[in-house]
Amino acid sequence: MTASQTPTTAEELRGAGLRVTAARVALLETVRDGDHLGVEAIASGVRDRVGHISLQAVYEALHALTAAGLVRRIEPAGNSARFEGRVGDNHHHVVCRSCGAVADVDCAAGEAPCLTASDDHGFSVDEAEVIYWGQCPDCSTATSS
Ligand SMILES: [Zn+2]
Ligand SMILES: [Zn+2]
Repeated sequence: MTASQTPTTAEELRGAGLRVTAARVALLETVRDGDHLGVEAIASGVRDRVGHISLQAVYEALHALTAAGLVRRIEPAGNSARFEGRVGDNHHHVVCRSCGAVADVDCAAGEAPCLTASDDHGFSVDEAEVIYWGQCPDCSTATSS
């Protein structure tokens, strides 16, 4: 018996039905190494790995990877979109109103949707999008002094 091997990034792309390109591999690795990165930061991470890539190509690859469920996109109101590699666990986010810092918050209730709608209007609800808003430690220190 051999220990089950973690699939490589390329194998994960293939498994999700995506064509494997160096840019997509680099993009997925950049998103996973990062912490809720925006598009510009992802583009520069991809360029560090594979050289020049247009912003348009980054958008297209992000779209494909998000649609395939390998990348999760969050877009807190008033902030630009962020991307992360932690998918499928229904975790939530806490966002700083002042600087836009984002951190993960594990779901307290477990499975999605973790909040039961008081009236679902007959919809079959599969997700509750929860964002906790507040001030990050840095910003709350700055305002209280
Ligand atoms: Zn802040
Ligand atoms: Zn997250």
